[in-house]
Amino acid sequence: MNHLSDRALASAAKLILTGLAALLAGCRQPGPAPAPVTARWPVMSTVAELSLPVGATNLPRLQPIVAGCFDAVENRLSFFRETSDIARINRQAGTGIPVAVAAGTADVLAQALSVARESGGAFDPTVAPLMRLWGFRGGVTNLARPAHEALGGTLALVDWRQVTLVVTAAPPHAAVHLARPGMELDLGGIAKGYAVDQAYDALLREGCSVFLVNLAGNMRGRGAPAAGRRGWRIGIRDPLQVQAGAWLGTLTLEDGEALATSGNYERFVVVEGERVPHIIDPRDGQPARGLISVTVLAGSALEADALSTALFVLGVDQRRTVLRAHPGCGAVYLTDTRPPRLRVTPELHGRFRPAPGWKTAVEWVD
Ligand code: ADP
Ligand code: MG
Repeated sequence: MNHLSDRALASAAKLILTGLAALLAGCRQPGPAPAPVTARWPVMSTVAELSLPVGATNLPRLQPIVAGCFDAVENRLSFFRETSDIARINRQAGTGIPVAVAAGTADVLAQALSVARESGGAFDPTVAPLMRLWGFRGGVTNLARPAHEALGGTLALVDWRQVTLVVTAAPPHAAVHLARPGMELDLGGIAKGYAVDQAYDALLREGCSVFLVNLAGNMRGRGAPAAGRRGWRIGIRDPLQVQAGAWLGTLTLEDGEALATSGNYERFVVVEGERVPHIIDPRDGQPARGLISVTVLAGSALEADALSTALFVLGVDQRRTVLRAHPGCGAVYLTDTRPPRLRVTPELHGRFRPAPGWKTAVEWVD
């Protein structure tokens, strides 16, 4: 499968969801209150949204600013765009030639490497060769699971410790090098969150005080859309129900908070008749198992995005080191068990409100 069909598959899966009027990574405003005004447009093979409070008139002015932020991030960080910082770094892997990159690229990469360290490599921004091996990222369609030898060779190319990021006071300020030929960076697990933070900062600079930015379920809010609300109330979509508006529960984003969901139900390839989700465990090269989705509440969209991917790989029991490094972050896990359980971390006490049908499935972890 080439990368186009890989992406086409992903967008086909997404379109089905859109057809059901569910929001892409499963979140939207539930409830009967008057709807905020929302602009929705396609970007990064997915959908972006900007919502403003009821009656706002500045949507036409602000939407292009947010769209501009997303385009700028895509130009810099896209795995597929030949001129992006990421593609340029990947072409020089193993050559010994460091690649000068924008300060923003260095910043996201530094944060990706921190989460890699905190998670013991469960989150790894060099995961791309494994993604290809399983048929993503322009890899070929797998009719069978990868052979043991192929897996071993690929695993040797996935190692965040072999990424060198040098930041200097003098130009070029930041340069990146990957130690081995065949290594590739893939910031797909963190870039959308970073893009949302960029848009959030740009809207603050515009003097905007009430808004919600959403890029494929990576959301960050400011203020509250209606009087008497503490913030933007977000429904976490129930991926086990096909109809729109089925929620696992809700979380309210207070000023500046962000939320992201990683799941195994939206982007996947089919290998030997089994769905292989697009999150791979770099420690053994196998698709991450045990969960259907993880939703993370955090202080920034970048943290929510990276942590949702990391926690999806780590599972409920290995979460502590990562969460300790990000005080205030909490998670809602939907387990791939029969029956499914909602396991929720203590930070979300008083915050996560399960939907009526899910109340008995909730288990608070400590
Ligand atoms: P989405 O892209 O649907 O919002 P995620 O934020 O969970 O979902 O990111 C999934 C993406 O992260 C994959 O498409 C891939 O680019 C990348 N990825 C997959 N496995 C890992 C991993 N173990 N560590 C870091 N990034 C990963
Ligand atoms: Mg992520």
